[in-house]
Formats: sequence, structure tokens, C-alpha cells
Amino acid sequence: MAAETEDLTAKYEAVIGLEVHVQLATRTKIFCACATSFGAPANTNVCPVCLGLPGALPVLNRAAVEMAVRASLGLHCRVNPVSRFARKNYFYPDLPKGFQISQYDEPLAEHGWVEVPAAGGGAKRIGITRVHLEDDAGKSIHDGFRDSADYTYVDLNRAGTPLIEIVSEPDIRTPDEAYAYLTALKETMQFLGVSECDMEKGQLRCDANVSIRPRGETKLGTKAEVKNLNSFRFARLAIEYEIARQARVLSSGGRLVQETRLYNADTGETVSMRSKEHAHDYRYFPEPDLAPVRISAEWLEQIRADMPEPPAEKRARFIASYGLREYDAQVLTGSRELSDYFEAVVKACGDPRLAANWVTGDLMGALDGKPIEESPVPAGRLGELCTLIAKGEISGKLAKEIFARMVETGDSPGVIMEREGLRQISDKGELDRIVNEVLAASTKQVEQYRSGKTAVIGYLVGQVMKATQGQADPGAVRELLQAKLSS
Ligand SMILES: [Zn+2]
Repeated sequence: MAAETEDLTAKYEAVIGLEVHVQLATRTKIFCACATSFGAPANTNVCPVCLGLPGALPVLNRAAVEMAVRASLGLHCRVNPVSRFARKNYFYPDLPKGFQISQYDEPLAEHGWVEVPAAGGGAKRIGITRVHLEDDAGKSIHDGFRDSADYTYVDLNRAGTPLIEIVSEPDIRTPDEAYAYLTALKETMQFLGVSECDMEKGQLRCDANVSIRPRGETKLGTKAEVKNLNSFRFARLAIEYEIARQARVLSSGGRLVQETRLYNADTGETVSMRSKEHAHDYRYFPEPDLAPVRISAEWLEQIRADMPEPPAEKRARFIASYGLREYDAQVLTGSRELSDYFEAVVKACGDPRLAANWVTGDLMGALDGKPIEESPVPAGRLGELCTLIAKGEISGKLAKEIFARMVETGDSPGVIMEREGLRQISDKGELDRIVNEVLAASTKQVEQYRSGKTAVIGYLVGQVMKATQGQADPGAVRELLQAKLSS
């Protein structure tokens, strides 16, 4: 079965587009002053506007617009100077107004892109068709009550929460690319402070449009829209399943129908929900109660100026101005907090590569998967340690020992060195004595060195470091050995 599926997917190419809804991190809803806080008692964060009571008028939340613009800029979109709200009409128990306020033919922003790592190395650009603003519906609760078998309950706290919908071009070709695209979106939204993208709280939701076509074909195949992708992992699995399913239908001579399918995480399958014939006609029309959204050039520039640096741009800067390897730049921009931490270490010690090595190496090892916010070693302290190494005051080996104590105690390197006597041996006389001892005990290597095999000095340096338990400066030891051996 697995081998058969592999054969089929080699014959066909998948064309995937994603529609992602992101909840904006505003304190209040998009068209009223109700709180957006999560976990409040049901139906307490509501008012006539978000309950859709007759005569209640929506007022657009400026903060939501600014966050949406920020998100659009982070996705390299062109922000339209004028965009318009429209009513998307449908009936559902959790939609008290009877329509969603969204944007239709005049969206907030268009023509953007994000970059994802390409399969063969390098980067691939995935186009963003549009970003538009809309309000969220409430939540239907189908279980958890004694009479849940007979009734569905509705919580309208979420109704009117601000969302942006980010629609991608059908540029995605594999489930892995879809996963990478979602990761890049989430990272960008989090970096920009636009959303926490907590999928468990419904702050990021994703639908996938999937079709396949024989490799080499340029016409698009018949697509299925797959809904209910509650995690990036499920999105990848659902797309994988859907590609294989469509390939099986086509290769057995069947015909695909345009339809909406639901992913079932328990079975790992997608099942048909409705076909195109039963698709909604939303009867979009312009929202009469809201003025068009106008974004002046000045406002746009102000939002751009106040915006944190997006992750892709930060990565490029780390490589260009700090001389980091691509891999390190990638790791260090894993979250805004991590990149801030790294830059604080750089600022303290002035040596970006050394800082990168310590943060991605020993520090992340000590964190063991925990986020940087939980680091037992503050950035300033690691900066002090890196400064000591950069100045040649402690060896790398001693630094590792001190670092282990810093993780345990949270103390500064200076305090630890004082307390534990972990001083570098800078006393000339003591080092001189140890070097003499090593030379006396290594007559063979001394002979070899004098007969021209100078590489043997590495062994002698090692012996001295061993004798000092790593507390000597290897550079100074080497110099001292060279002086003695050539006299
Ligand atoms: Zn309200």
C-alpha cells in the first residue's frame, strides 16, 4: 500500500493553496468594545453589536487595522489605500447577525510573499494573494453538557473577534512545503506581535485547497477544500492523505469532483462534507454600516516605522552584518525572544560568532528544549562570560566549567571564579615551573620538535593544559613552549 501510494504520487504533482485565519492580538473586538480575553464565562463578553441586535452599529477598531497592516507588511504585501467591508451571508447558530463582516473584492492588502526553505536547498517564494480583515463567529459547543445528546450550546464570547485571512497563491507543491509555509506565517505573526497564534485557543486556523495533475501538465486539476486542520502536523497529514486519495481516484479511471472535505484526526482520513452543487452562495454585498478603510501614506509609514523587524529580514541581517552561518541565523531567529537574547550577548561581548556558538551550543543544550524566556542564565551574564573568552582571560575549557556553574546557580562568571578558585593561571612563575616539568618529562617529543617535527608542540600544549587542569591560557602556553624549545 505504501509503495503503491508512492508510485502514484510520483506520477502526479500536487497544487496546494492555503487559507489561514489568524486572530489579531487586540484587547477588544473588531467592531465593539467587548474584551477578547480567552476563557471568560460563556456569553459574558458580549454587547448589542456583537450579538447582532437590531439597530446596533459597528465601529471599526483602529488597533485591529494597524495590526492587520503590520501583518501585511511583514508578508511583503501591497497595502491598498482604500479597502471595503462586505457582508458574507449565511445562517448558522453561532452567527447571530446572520452574516459575517469580511472583505471581498476590495481587500486590505495583496500581492505578497513568504520564503520557505526549498527541498533542494536555498529558498522558495510562496505568493500571498491577499490579506483581509473580518470578524469571527461564536462557538458551537456540541458536548460537555448532560443534555448534549439533544442540544448544542452556543458561546458568543468569540463573536466579533478580529481576524485576518491570509490566502496563499497555489504555489505549494508538497505537504512539507505546506508545513514550512505555516511555520513561516506563524513565526512572522509572532515576531510582529500581531498574534500569539495559539492553535489550541483557535488563534490560527487553516484550510487547504488541494488538487493534483499529471507531472508536466500546466492546467489545474479539480480541487478539494480540506477543512478542520487543527495543527500543522494534521495539516501535513491531511494534505498527504488527500494527494494520495486523489491520485488513486485518477489512476483507477475515476473522476474527481470539486468538494469540501473534513479531516478526521482520529482516522487520518478526509471525508466529503459537501460538493460544489451544495456550496454556499454567500450573496456578498457592501457593508452599509461601515465606511471604507482608508490608509493614508503617512499612517502606513508610521506603522512601518513602529514595526519590529520581521524574522526573514532579521536572519538576512545576522548573516550580512554578523557573519553568521545560515544555519545559526536560522536557529537564532527561532523566536523574537531568542534573537533579542542573542543580540544582547553580542552587545555585551562584541563578538557575534562567539556569542552565536555559545547560545546555539552550550546554552541551548542546557535549556534542553525549554524556551529562552526560561533560561537560568540571563543574556548579560553570558555576555560577561563571552567577554572573558574574547579577551583571552579564560580558556574555552574553563569557560565551559564556569558556564555549568552559572546554569546551576545563576551567578555571574566573576563571582563563580572567585568562589571556586577557577582562576586562569596568569602567574608567570607558576606557569614557567609547570612548562619546565612537562618538558623534562617529554624528552622524546622535545627531540622530535628540535629535529623539525614542530607539529608535536600540540601534544606539549595538551600536557601543560592537563597539568593545570585547563586553567592556563593555551595561547600563552604555546608561546612559552616555543620560546623554550628554540633557545
Ligand atoms: Zn460586543
